[in-house]
Amino acid sequence: MKIFVSTVPFADVDPRPREVLREVGAELVVNPLNRKLTESDLDALIGDYEILIAGTESISESVLEKAKRLKLIVRVGIGLDSVDLRAARKRDILVSYTPDAPSPAVAELTIGLMIDLLRSTHVSNLRMHKGEWYRYFGRRLSEVIIGVIGAGRIGSRVIKHLRGFNCRQILVNDIDTQISLPYDPTCTLERTTKEQIYQEAEVISLHVPLTPKTRSLISEKELGQMRPDALLINTSRGGIVNEQDLFEALKKQQIGGAAIDVFEQEPYTGNLSTLENCLLTAHMGSMSVDCRTQMEIEACQEAVRFIKGEPLESLVPDAEYNHG
Ligand code: NAD
Repeated sequence: MKIFVSTVPFADVDPRPREVLREVGAELVVNPLNRKLTESDLDALIGDYEILIAGTESISESVLEKAKRLKLIVRVGIGLDSVDLRAARKRDILVSYTPDAPSPAVAELTIGLMIDLLRSTHVSNLRMHKGEWYRYFGRRLSEVIIGVIGAGRIGSRVIKHLRGFNCRQILVNDIDTQISLPYDPTCTLERTTKEQIYQEAEVISLHVPLTPKTRSLISEKELGQMRPDALLINTSRGGIVNEQDLFEALKKQQIGGAAIDVFEQEPYTGNLSTLENCLLTAHMGSMSVDCRTQMEIEACQEAVRFIKGEPLESLVPDAEYNHG
């Protein structure tokens, strides 16, 4: 079987994902452009591959139209906003993913970003590289009110980590009202509305998928409800925060700061990079060696099961096909 790996990096640090595929003697081609593919790149490259091991590049109906022999897409990661699931199903193309593997790395990065923003370490670093010595006052995680929107795999891990800091209060919102929250003997954890989080939280962290309901979840109106010292963190998906509205709010210092890992267009080159109160990272939430390798191995194992005709273990659940 012919496999195209569109996601990069792939098996760069740890060779095990390639070894998994070697077992079945699959013919493997890795993204020759070594960057995130555009839709037209993928249109041109998808050719007659039967399995696609994909990153966050757009796998639209038009791409699938070109992929005449494609039978399986395995997303290395969890976000499915880039895959036209219904168009895939129409063509009998199966879609799997690796939903659990990225969570530890994204949750840890989120905590790091919270502390960076609260203590202005990113700004201090910039200033010291320019030869300036300035000591910022900051706030500690333990003393601020934190709002977590989305308490699934990543959000609930963030909450668990935060409990180690004895945070004053953690406000949580999830549309799934049945979702179980990590046990909190100190009772500082409270389920609440998004509005209460916007109005009261000093740190707001987003962990929801990008769907028609969450597109522009944070726009001018929501930013307008936030405290002047609020810090917004988005390690979920670009498009959930309206980037232009965030730019305006940060420029006017309507909120205290933001840390953004994910962007509407990636690689990102927009105007948020002109603002000191905006900490930017290059969609690297899952980029710890262990998590990235685990994601790639799990994706390759799913491809191997498919090639051997064994039952697949991480097919995308039906509920994901019903967004929008
Ligand atoms: P998950 O599906 O386990 O959890 C998402 C949670 O969001 C669910 O509990 C769901 O009920 C809730 N939710 C959905 N819509 C909501 C809404 N409108 N309001 C409130 N809650 C809502 O997903 P996860 O593993 O926690 O990942 C979350 C997102 O993180 C992914 O969809 C992906 O886009 C992103 N992600 C980013 C990186 C990165 O590198 N930065 C890596 C992995 C995942």
